Amino acid sequence: MGESGDIDEIWRRAEGGAVAILDCREEIPCDPCEAVCARGAIVVGKNVCDLPRYDPGLCNGCGRCVAICPGMAIYLLDRSSRDGGARLTLPYEMKEEIKAGDEVWALDEDGSPLGKGKVVKTAKMNKRDHSLLVTVDVPEEWALKVRGVRIRVMSIGEPLEVRGCQREEDHLLCRCEEISRSQAREYAAMGFNSLRALRRFSRVGLGYCQGRFCQAMLVDEFSTAAFRDREGVGVFKVRPPVRPVKLGRLGGENG
Ligand code: SF4
Ligand code: SF4
Repeated sequence: MGESGDIDEIWRRAEGGAVAILDCREEIPCDPCEAVCARGAIVVGKNVCDLPRYDPGLCNGCGRCVAICPGMAIYLLDRSSRDGGARLTLPYEMKEEIKAGDEVWALDEDGSPLGKGKVVKTAKMNKRDHSLLVTVDVPEEWALKVRGVRIRVMSIGEPLEVRGCQREEDHLLCRCEEISRSQAREYAAMGFNSLRALRRFSRVGLGYCQGRFCQAMLVDEFSTAAFRDREGVGVFKVRPPVRPVKLGRLGGENG
C-alpha cells in the first residue's frame, strides 16, 4: 500500500478499533482528506496532485476522511469484535435506502459481489454530506477486498431501473456548495453571467476543492445558459492560499 500506510500495521491496529485504510491511486488535484483530518494522519503536501501519505498510528477512526473523499477511496477497518469478523465503514452514495439490520452485497473493487454482509449502522458526519457512512460486518477474509456495498446487484441482461434516477438537471456541478445544473441555469437567468459574479453570490468555488473540480463544468454550463462564450464567462481568480490551510498555520504554527 506504499505511502498509504503499512498494511500490516493497519491490520494490527484494527484489533483495537476502527482505523482508516486509504486506497487512493490517482494523482489528481485533490486533498480534502488532509484538510479534514484533525489528527494530521493524512498529508498530501504542497503538490496537490501527490498521493496522500498516511500514518495509521495517528488515526482515531473518526471517519471524517471517509465521508469527505470524493473518490470514495477511504474506508475504516475495525477488527475489535470477538467473533473474528471484520467491521467495515464504507461510503455509500446510491439512492436506494439502506439501514441497520439490512443484508447487503459486499462488492470488490471491480463491483463484483463477494457475498453478503450485515449492516450494523448508518450515519452522516454532516447533514449536507452526500456520502452515507455504512458500517457492515463481513467475514475477516474480505476485510481488505470490500470497496462498496449494494442492496441488490444487477445481473447481466437485466434492464436498468429508471424510476428514481436523478434527473440530469439535478446533477451537482459544485459538490462542495451543492450547486446543481438547474441552479446554475437559474443563476444565469437572474443575470449572473460570469463565474466570479456567481462566486460572490453563491460561494461556488469557495468550498473544499476551491474550484478545482467544478470550474470546467461551470464554465460549460454557464456559457450555454448565459449565451456567452467561454472567455466571457471567465475563470476563478486564484488567490492565495491555493489550497486549504489550517488556521493554526496562518497563525504561525508548524505542522
Ligand atoms: S479516520 Fe479520522 S483520524 Fe483517521 S485518517 Fe481519517 S480523518 Fe484522520
Ligand atoms: S480525498 Fe480521497 S481521492 Fe482525494 S487525495 Fe484524499 S484519498 Fe485521494
